[in-house]
Amino acid sequence: MTSNQRTFQSETPRERKRRLNNERQAAHYRRRQRRQNNISIERHDLGRMDQICTYCGAKFWMNEKDKHSTQNSPSFAVCCAGGKVGLPPLLRPPPYLMNLYTSLEPEANAFRRNVRSYNSLLACTSFGADVNGEFQRSGLSNFTIHGQVYHFIGSLLPNEGEAPKFAQLYIYDTENEMNNRLNIMQNVDVTILQNLQNMLDVANPYIQVFRQARDIIQASETSDVSMVIHGDCTKNLHRYEAPTSSDVAVLMIGDGCDIEPSNRNILLRQREGGLQKISELHPSYDPLHYVLLFPRGDNGWHPDIPLLRSRKRNRVTQMQFYSYRLQIKNGDWIQNTVNS
Ligand SMILES: [Zn+2]
Repeated sequence: MTSNQRTFQSETPRERKRRLNNERQAAHYRRRQRRQNNISIERHDLGRMDQICTYCGAKFWMNEKDKHSTQNSPSFAVCCAGGKVGLPPLLRPPPYLMNLYTSLEPEANAFRRNVRSYNSLLACTSFGADVNGEFQRSGLSNFTIHGQVYHFIGSLLPNEGEAPKFAQLYIYDTENEMNNRLNIMQNVDVTILQNLQNMLDVANPYIQVFRQARDIIQASETSDVSMVIHGDCTKNLHRYEAPTSSDVAVLMIGDGCDIEPSNRNILLRQREGGLQKISELHPSYDPLHYVLLFPRGDNGWHPDIPLLRSRKRNRVTQMQFYSYRLQIKNGDWIQNTVNS
C-alpha cells in the first residue's frame, strides 16, 4: 500500500472534500499556466467516422476495428457481435416529442435542459438507490451510489390519506392530475407537461391500461381491479410495430388472489399492495420508467432474446443488448436529437 493510499483511507469526509477541491483548483491552475505559456497540445485526429458494420449498419472510426481484422476489410464486434444480435429499431416518438428533441425553438431548448424533470413527473415507476451523499453538491455535477439502482411500483391506488405517485397519478384523482404533478415538482412548463401527458395517453400502451383501470374504478366504487404486466415476450420477439395495451398488460376484476403466481409477471393490486421492486430482467423495466425515451413502450432487455445464427440456444446478454442500442446508426431517430 502506498503512503498516498494510507492517507486517503484515514481522511475524514471533510478532509476528502477539501483535498478534491484543492486538486481541482490545482488542475485549473495548471491548465491556465499552459495557456499562458503558449504550450501547444498536439491535436489527436481519429479521422472520419466512416466505417460501417456490414451486419447492423453501426458507424465506427477505423481505430475501433477488431484487432484481428485488416484495414482493407475491417470488422466490428462491439455493436452486434458479428450479426448475432439483431433488435428491432427503437420506435420513433410521436411528432410532438420528436420536435422537442430536435427543434432549436426556445420551447424545445427549455424542454431538453429539463428533460429529466419531465420524465420523472410522467414516469410510472420510482427510482431507488443507496445514494452516497458525501459528494452531492460539491461543485461538479455528480451522482454516486452504492450497489445497484432499483425501480419501484406501487398499488393502483394510493393508501388512504396519501397523495398519488407515479403510475397512481394516471388513475387516482385525475380531475386534478396536472396540479397533483405540479405539487411534486414546479420547475416545468405547464403547457409542455400537459401536451406530453396528452401524447402519452395516445401513444403509450402501459398508460392506456392505467387509464382503463381508472375508468373501471370510476364507473363503480365497489369494483376491485388488479393489473398484470406481462413478463413473457417470447411471442413478440421480432415485431417491428409498437406494442398494444393488450400486449403489455391485462386488467382483471378481483383482488388478484386467484391469479397464478409467476416470477415474470408483475401483479398490481388496487390498494395496499405495497411497493414492488421491478426486476431488471423484466422487459417493462425500461419503458415504465423512461417514458420519454420509450414513449411507445419499446421493450427493454429480457432473458429470452435469442442470438441469431447461433447453433447453441444462446441468448443476448444485457451487455450485448445495451451495446447494440448505444451504437450510432443512420436512420435511428435518436441521431437527430439536439444537445442543448
Ligand atoms: Zn454490427
